[in-house]
Amino acid sequence: MSEPAARPGPRSAALFERARRFTPGGVNSPARTFDGVGGGAPAFIDRASGARIHDVDGNAYVDYVGSFGPMILGHADPAVIEAVQKQAAKGLSFGAPTGLEVELAELICDMVDSIESVRMVNSGTEAAMTAIRLARGHTGRNKILKFAGNYHGHVDALLVNAGSGALTLGIPGSPGVPQSVVDDTLVATYNDLDSVAEAFAAHGDEIAAVMVEPVAGNMNCVPPVEGFLEGLRALCDDHGALLVFDEVMTGFRVHPACAQAHFGVTPDVTALGKIVGGGMPVGAVGASRRVMETLAPTGPVYQAGTLSGHPLGMAAGIATLSQIRGGAVHAAIEPRLDALVSGLEARARRHGVPLTVQRAGAMFGLFFTDASRVTRFDEVAACDGAAFRRFFHAMLDHGVYLAPSPFEAAFISRAHDEEAIEETLNAADAAFAAVARG
Ligand code: PMP
Repeated sequence: MSEPAARPGPRSAALFERARRFTPGGVNSPARTFDGVGGGAPAFIDRASGARIHDVDGNAYVDYVGSFGPMILGHADPAVIEAVQKQAAKGLSFGAPTGLEVELAELICDMVDSIESVRMVNSGTEAAMTAIRLARGHTGRNKILKFAGNYHGHVDALLVNAGSGALTLGIPGSPGVPQSVVDDTLVATYNDLDSVAEAFAAHGDEIAAVMVEPVAGNMNCVPPVEGFLEGLRALCDDHGALLVFDEVMTGFRVHPACAQAHFGVTPDVTALGKIVGGGMPVGAVGASRRVMETLAPTGPVYQAGTLSGHPLGMAAGIATLSQIRGGAVHAAIEPRLDALVSGLEARARRHGVPLTVQRAGAMFGLFFTDASRVTRFDEVAACDGAAFRRFFHAMLDHGVYLAPSPFEAAFISRAHDEEAIEETLNAADAAFAAVARG
């Protein structure tokens, strides 16, 4: 295969120059920079359709970022686009309830067993923020236990040992978050129940909630070890704390009824985002009716939003979840991901590159390591970062778009057909060869 031109191209580079003059780092979310993979201009995107995104230089990429999770149907799914267009023609936002909000709420409650009542917000961050306020208000306790390498958005109290962009850029805490705000945040080790039991032994009657990503997707893709989620459930029950699943990433992706159905562990509160809005800015918090009615206006815990339940977001969410509900989307994805994973493993082996692939539902992660399984944050951090960077750039140059960080999960969609998988594996062959060359 001849060496392709390095991507992205001059138009992306020019836009990046302009962007940097008017926006910090040239991006509106740090996870989009290429700073974690050697810097330079990221691809600026013009449009996307199905499994592919197209940049402003005319390069097409098979996309495994999927807007960092929402695009499980593929980009520009016709039913979603039509629903949004139809709704847009009727007006953008009213500040008064609509039938669309009822419809999406009913869909969520129907699909997710633990959710009887739901409040719409505008992002995953807001969902996580609301979830912990709700847990604190409901229990009358202040402490929240989270896990190093889990990310719950840029919520002050949760921006401690965070994953995703904070991890990529080496700033897992943040200036601007007062110490007093994180005094009530306890940090345990993901997949290590003993570390959680220790925290409960020390602070059992002060812990309002354990907040966890049921599959850790902001330190690459790390599924829970056997018994971990069950153990969290039991510890929360023993100590009167609420178990909060942050399913912003895993919700409707790991399983049509969320990760909680896949693993058979029922949380008290669920934070949703990404897929629930079908690519529009939507988040949601759901729980039993009893817990949810702690929120205003039925209860004293205040939470509000001018644009919450936004008609375009609701329309996109309904058009997305109604396709996921019957299970056909996940059923279509599974064999494609099987082919992708076994193909990647075979090609890595052929080039002598140590690689482990982990997956859960329609998300997966590549680990450049000799270890056959990666379960802890320190094991993720110990993977070969230089190999990832070489792989990332070679894949990009060969037309495959991965997240520019070894700490992000990868996302596959229903639109990743056999052709897209084959294209990916051909690119991977060249990319593993580049990694092997060093
Ligand atoms: N929780 C999890 C598990 C996430 O992955 C993310 C975003 N990647 C968030 C919360 C924050 O969501 P948002 O970026 O929509 O605010």
